[in-house]
Amino acid sequence: MYLVRNKLDLLITFTALVLLNVYSNALLAQTIGYRGEVLYFVENPAKNANSYRYYPDGVLYVNSGRVLEAGSYEKLKSSHKTAKIIDYSGKLIIPGMIDTHVHYPQIEMVAAYGDQLLDWLNNYTFPTEKNFSSPDNARRIANSFLDQLITNGTTTALVFSTVSPISVDAFFEASQQRNMRMISGKVLMDRFAPDYLMDTPESGYSQSKELIKKWHNKGRLQYAVTPRFAPTSTPEQLTLAGKLIKEYPDVYVHTHVAENKAEVAWVQELFPKSRSYLDVYDQFGLVTDRSVFAHGIYLDNQDMQTLSKKGGSISFCPTSNLFLGSGLFNIEKAEQNNVKVGLGTDVGAGTSLSILETMNEAYKVNQLRKAFSDDPSKIKPLDPFQLLYLATLGGARALSLDDKIGSFLPGREADFIVLNPESTPLLSARVKGAKDLKEKLFAFEVLGDDRTVQHTFIMGKALK
Ligand SMILES: [Zn+2]
Repeated sequence: MYLVRNKLDLLITFTALVLLNVYSNALLAQTIGYRGEVLYFVENPAKNANSYRYYPDGVLYVNSGRVLEAGSYEKLKSSHKTAKIIDYSGKLIIPGMIDTHVHYPQIEMVAAYGDQLLDWLNNYTFPTEKNFSSPDNARRIANSFLDQLITNGTTTALVFSTVSPISVDAFFEASQQRNMRMISGKVLMDRFAPDYLMDTPESGYSQSKELIKKWHNKGRLQYAVTPRFAPTSTPEQLTLAGKLIKEYPDVYVHTHVAENKAEVAWVQELFPKSRSYLDVYDQFGLVTDRSVFAHGIYLDNQDMQTLSKKGGSISFCPTSNLFLGSGLFNIEKAEQNNVKVGLGTDVGAGTSLSILETMNEAYKVNQLRKAFSDDPSKIKPLDPFQLLYLATLGGARALSLDDKIGSFLPGREADFIVLNPESTPLLSARVKGAKDLKEKLFAFEVLGDDRTVQHTFIMGKALK
């Protein structure tokens, strides 16, 4: 009797699970129209006057986690008569924001006082990153980090883990659970760091290779070969990093370049045969169309040309650059040289995981450049459309993912967010007083933060 009951229970549970699965698949397969103010980019506003699509009474149709189409509600509604409509009228629906440079292990050491880059690394970063050979700690921080990205409306990021492969496993597992499009990799570092944080050229190579096989292109996850920066890798290690890129040409390279003047001088000492800091990476085959370099403040025109020719990108990290007193990134120089640029928070040197707040600081960096310019009249304020482009399609292009994310073109993965102008009294008042879309966007960018992000959707599923 007992056995029979158990079997019956099992059957009931099994049937319930099957029904639940059928039901949730049916829900996913149903077309849903998200109605509101819809805005996305198709081109770079710095280069093209017809760069964005904006529908004040718009709709974004999603089915099975992908964009069907986006446009005017009145025009499109007859083509989707059976679609369920979710009404976000009065709110702004835009693609999920993209963070092109951030360190997940550093979230709990954000706001570390008093140092510039090289001392900050020794005094704060290295001791913090030591704890990531513990799977429990790595999992806890990875989960907390991703939840905070979702809270802030960031749906994709290029992320530093630590030198420990355990930190990479924990990060990718947590990303997979949320079905987020994420890129990460194990840090390569075999000199000028504490013993407990160093690998060797060989172990760095073989561990990276194992992780590539385990995670690269698994679902929405991709791998980045991740030397911390040129000073902490020997030429032997950089040679093997270049070998990995030859063996796996579609993996990313993720590192730092030309962030701080003392760092640039140190690289010149360590690699006297290289023309420049970027040239060190280039000589080891690490400048490709899948390379993303954080900062790039002290790159010259020849470096910019190299990036442009090879398709490498720069991650502009204003909150970090201001916090560590590193310098003011010249975005115009990058644009003039046709170098792809995205925004990065660079937490823990950056002070916020919010890309909205990052846009605010990017604007101020550009304003401040005027104070140090020989010809201030040549420096134009960063345009609000340009800022939002950098946070969405620009970021996707910097990561070579614009065929998948960053816009609402048909077939794109449905990562999107809903911004609420009523989220704070100040933002509400400023948006009401805005005379056009440009002013309204600028209010979101200067006054917005995580409270402004009402919903975050990952592949059509609301996670906030
Ligand atoms: Zn960084």
